[in-house]
Amino acid sequence: MKKLLALALTAAVSVGAQAQAYPNKPITFVVPFAAGGPTDLVARQLAEAMRKPLGGANIVVENAAGAGGTIAGTKVARATPDGYTLLVWHIGMAATTSLYRKQQFKPMEDFEFLGMINDVPMTLLGKPQLPANTYRDFEAYIRANGGKLNLAHAGLGSASHLCGLMWQSAVKLDKSMTTIAYRGTGPAMNDLIGGQVDVMCDQTTNTTAQIEGGRVKAFAVTTAKPLSKHKLLKDYPTLQEMGLKDFNLTIWHGLYAPKGTPPEITKKLNDALKVALKDPEFIKKQEDLGALVVTDNRVTPEGHKAFVGDQVKKLKAVIDAAGQFAD
Ligand code: ASP
Repeated sequence: MKKLLALALTAAVSVGAQAQAYPNKPITFVVPFAAGGPTDLVARQLAEAMRKPLGGANIVVENAAGAGGTIAGTKVARATPDGYTLLVWHIGMAATTSLYRKQQFKPMEDFEFLGMINDVPMTLLGKPQLPANTYRDFEAYIRANGGKLNLAHAGLGSASHLCGLMWQSAVKLDKSMTTIAYRGTGPAMNDLIGGQVDVMCDQTTNTTAQIEGGRVKAFAVTTAKPLSKHKLLKDYPTLQEMGLKDFNLTIWHGLYAPKGTPPEITKKLNDALKVALKDPEFIKKQEDLGALVVTDNRVTPEGHKAFVGDQVKKLKAVIDAAGQFAD
């Protein structure tokens, strides 16, 4: 009995000491999509902004792409809960649980919620060779040619996939486009620019520069309200203005640790995240790309968890209605 008590005490002391010394080696942000895409970008910008509040910690980004993000989700859910393996994931955290029948983890049970990062609108895009220049012409063109066209996305449960699903069901296309899955919209964007695929709906953080450079055509934004404060995106109509009643899709990103990470460590991470979200440089980088840094109570672990729980329910309804599932 004495021996057991001593063992338990030593374990408690070493976890406490570990938490106090945290971080004393590199932290990995696991990103569920390819490098060069919107989630990779926010993870890298956040890594930079969290470095200082974490005492100059080295934060590296690992791209574990595939299966709409569930490979990375599984990896972090099973990682040692010591604060050195974290997950930066978006709306897919709430969507994939309804899409993948054999998902290896439970989003609401297998993670510590560390706080949300940003909200990102999306833009509906076409390859530069498309004949349409306005949303109306674009919709007419897709209606006439839908069956022959390809829609790029970043895998089942990705933001681009959800947006494509929602848009096609809102406009009630007779013939849906053929979907082509990539490991992220970074590589998908290259093919859209090159004209190998026809249409994509992607986050403004990945599209703004391409629209500005005239490398792709943009037709509409997916938010309920126009992006009237953004110098470029203010010129595009919302899908609601174009007649798609109730269309409203904004992509959010959050930060997660494996369940069981010591509370001293999750607190350090949440504190550092809050500092990063007030960093003027980080805020500017996000705003220039059309995204908004989270400032409401979703920056707290409780607020973050409540929001994701709500999103799981809302997205289940959308996904069940669309009837597309994966194993
Ligand atoms: N966030 C994905 C990426 O970074 C894209 C998506 O979800 O559509 O590639």
